[in-house]
Amino acid sequence: MRNPFHLPPEQAHFAPELERAIVDELYKRAWAAFAALLLVLAVTASVLKEAIHRHPPIGRVLLLMAIVTLLRTLSLVLLRNIPSPRLRLWGFIIGSTLIALGFADLNITSYPNLELPELALLVIIDAGICSGALMSMGSSFLTYLLYAVPNICSMALMVALGPSSRWSQHLLLLLCIYVAALSLLAFQIALAYRREVLLRLEMEEMALRDNLTQLRNRRALLEFMSMEAEQVLRTWRLTSDPAHPKTATSLGILMLDIDHFKAVNDTYGHAAGDAVLKQIAAILTETARKPDMVVRWGGEEFVVVARDTDRKPPSRLAERIRERVEQHAFSLPSGQTIPITCSIGYSVFPFDEKYSALLSWEQIISVADSGMYFAKTHGRNRSVGLVAGTRIQGGSDILNSLEQSLEQARAEGLVSLVE
Ligand code: GH3
Ligand code: MG
Ligand code: MG
Repeated sequence: MRNPFHLPPEQAHFAPELERAIVDELYKRAWAAFAALLLVLAVTASVLKEAIHRHPPIGRVLLLMAIVTLLRTLSLVLLRNIPSPRLRLWGFIIGSTLIALGFADLNITSYPNLELPELALLVIIDAGICSGALMSMGSSFLTYLLYAVPNICSMALMVALGPSSRWSQHLLLLLCIYVAALSLLAFQIALAYRREVLLRLEMEEMALRDNLTQLRNRRALLEFMSMEAEQVLRTWRLTSDPAHPKTATSLGILMLDIDHFKAVNDTYGHAAGDAVLKQIAAILTETARKPDMVVRWGGEEFVVVARDTDRKPPSRLAERIRERVEQHAFSLPSGQTIPITCSIGYSVFPFDEKYSALLSWEQIISVADSGMYFAKTHGRNRSVGLVAGTRIQGGSDILNSLEQSLEQARAEGLVSLVE
């Protein structure tokens, strides 16, 4: 039988996020259970009053239970801030197991001193506590089991060993039914919660992917770059601080546009165009490194963000992509193969070494776009890089000048061409 908690390979990459969500949910729900636990401890004390009077160690066990429960509540506050979900899960498991063992100890110690009505009342109270605590642990079946097994076994043992009567046998039967029902419910909660989280993660992923090529889309790039660009700029700020001699990192940004793509659609049909787009996406993914970001920017335009480049414009990557596209035989749904070329413009972020915040990453995309346009107007099937020139001007001046004429921006010393 298939393990229902096992992630199929296509969902395996969700495992860390899933674990985080389950543990977060566990901590969120646990509060109500622990409040109930404290309340119920007080009720248990009054039920056990007679037994404590007859056998004082029971009182001590009860006090210990109260302390463990309070410590557990405190650890919930402290552990909540630990970033590793695995550590937090272990914290939760250990805390819950301690409580379960505490209850087990209390049950076993007190049963010889209890009359049947007291015993029955204690079991009912215990069952109430279990319900609250167990339902709160439904999102992690493992935590639930570790809590349930010692706690419920002790209750069953207590009823089995307690004053023998027809009632205690009924109580034992009811307890078994209760445990079975509760286990089934917790199992269902755990599965339903996992399914819900996986569905949410899949939807989130879908919203960040392009349907046709399965590459990331513009939204994904926006999310990625809002963090990444800030991180890169930070390394530049730190470099200027002698206390942090960390080398600054840059991002290579490439813009690719397929040459005469409209003609592919017009000659071979839209499905052929789609097949070409998918193969371009595969070439880009294979050529870029794993941490790089490959994005379908729109239509037949793609953006690649190469990470951790050491200030050098990504000319080699651009040429490698251009050559691979040129050499690939693009197969169409009809079985035919056709050659395709592309034009690439690229630049580097930050644009200028001294003024790292001169152009934003979005503006660097525009610069790469200008390079791509230059490649288009100068024969296509080429890659053209644009880097900062010798003259420094405001970011918008550079962009305005580029928009009017790249040749002029170059003559003014605002940009330099890398080919
Ligand atoms: P250039 O070399 O100057 O870039 O010429 P081009 O024909 O590639 O450029 P143009 O912008 O005129 O044409 C782009 C075409 O891309 C037009 C549009 O129909 C096609 N296109 C955009 N998105 C898709 C898509 O998802 N599938 C297909 N099959 N075609 C698409
Ligand atoms: Mg285009
Ligand atoms: Mg095109």
